[in-house]
Amino acid sequence: MSLRESVTRFCVQVGSDPLLVQAGGGNVSWKEQGVLWIKGSGMWLADAADRDVFAPVDLNAIRQALAAGALSYKPQTMPGSDLRPSIETLLHGLMPHRFVAHLHAVEPLAHLVRRRLPDVSDSDMEGLALVPYATPGAELAGAVAKALAGSGEVHSLLLANHGVVVGADDMESLQARLDALLRRFAAPVIGTVSPASSRPSSRSSSTGASTRAPSAPLAHEPLILNGTEFTPLLQRGVHGLATDPALYSRLARDWALYPDHVVFLGPSPLCVDDPAAVAEMNSVPLFFFLAGRGVFVSSAFGLAHQLQLQCYHEVLSRQLPSEPLRTLDAREVAGLLDWDAERYRQEMAARTS
Ligand SMILES: [Zn+2]
Repeated sequence: MSLRESVTRFCVQVGSDPLLVQAGGGNVSWKEQGVLWIKGSGMWLADAADRDVFAPVDLNAIRQALAAGALSYKPQTMPGSDLRPSIETLLHGLMPHRFVAHLHAVEPLAHLVRRRLPDVSDSDMEGLALVPYATPGAELAGAVAKALAGSGEVHSLLLANHGVVVGADDMESLQARLDALLRRFAAPVIGTVSPASSRPSSRSSSTGASTRAPSAPLAHEPLILNGTEFTPLLQRGVHGLATDPALYSRLARDWALYPDHVVFLGPSPLCVDDPAAVAEMNSVPLFFFLAGRGVFVSSAFGLAHQLQLQCYHEVLSRQLPSEPLRTLDAREVAGLLDWDAERYRQEMAARTS
C-alpha cells in the first residue's frame, strides 16, 4: 500500500467518527520526497477516498521559514493542485514525524475545556505535552514550536480548548499513539442510562449522539416566525441542550469553548423563553434554543452546523454540573472571527440587550 493509500484509509476512518472529527475540522498530513501533503482547507477528511483532499506544499520552503522563525509564513500549494493548504500547515511542518494527525477528539477535548487542565508532568505517557490555547494558524504554530523545543521526543500534544495532535513515522505507530491518547483521556458521558456513546462507522449514521437520562419529549412542529420557518432539530441528544436544565444553564456561560464551535456556530448562543423574541429580531438567526422545548434551526443550518452542535453537546455531556469550564475570552473569540475586539464587544452587547 502506498503512503497515500494508507493515509487515505486512516482519514476516512477518523473523518467518519464524529467523536474524532466534525465536518471539515481536523487535518492529516504526510511528508514524502520534499513534499508535505496536507488536507486542503475546507475539505472533509471523511471524503479522502472519494476526492482529492490533499494539497502538496514545498516542505523545504516551510522548513526554511520555520528555521528563520517566520511563523507568519503562508505556505502555497505547489502547481497542479487548486486546493488551499490547511490553516495548520505550519504546525504539521513543525512536527518532525512523517505522519501527523490533528483531530478535534471529543473525549480529550472534554478534559481540555476545563479550567483544571490535565497534569501531564507526571504522565504515564512519554512524549506528551500540553499546549496552552493559541489562535489557529501562526499563533498556534508558535505555541507548538515551544512545546517541541524541550529535550526528548514529543509526539503527542494536547491543545487546550482545541484538540489533539499526534505524530509518528509509520501509520501503525500513529494509530497506536492516537489510541493510547484516547484511552488515557477517556471521558464517559455523565449520567447516561444507556451505554456510553458509540462510534458510528459512517457519516450517514453520525446522528447517533449520546443520550442522557430522561428528557422532555421532542418538539416536532416547526415554528413560523416573521415568515421564516424554523424546524426542530430532531436529534434527541442535541435537543437536550434546550430541554435539560443542567445543559441549558451552560449555554450562556460556557459557549465559546473551542475554535470550530465559534467559527461555525457564532460567538454566542441565542437562547429564548418565548419564540416571539425571535420574530422581533431584525435578522434571521441560523438557529436558536427555545427553553424547555428544543433546538430550532433555519433552512441555512446544514450538516456541518449540525455536527458542530452535536460535538458541543457531546463535550458538555461529559462534564459534571459542578465542573468549571474555561471559555475563550473576547480577544480569543475576535481572533477566530477576524474581528477586532471592539466589534466583538458590540456584538455581545447587542445579544444581551
Ligand atoms: Zn483544529
